[in-house]
Amino acid sequence: MPIYEYHCDQCDKDFECLIFRSDDIPECPTCNGNNVKRMMSACGFLSKGGGGETVSRSAGASSCGGCSASSCAGCGH
Ligand SMILES: [Zn+2]
Repeated sequence: MPIYEYHCDQCDKDFECLIFRSDDIPECPTCNGNNVKRMMSACGFLSKGGGGETVSRSAGASSCGGCSASSCAGCGH
């Protein structure tokens, strides 16, 4: 499932949201505003240090952050 990171211009908060359609624009969970921008991240939000470990890595990644295998297809992640 694709997870995108958004930034709310209205309250200046960042949040993550599961998106099922590419044209979906979520509401800000903090202020319920629609003035949000999607922030591009290559693979979920793994680059955001710390709490990214719960993100699914199943989408054909070429390298697996959780094991030494070259593909997550073989390690059960
Ligand atoms: Zn907001």
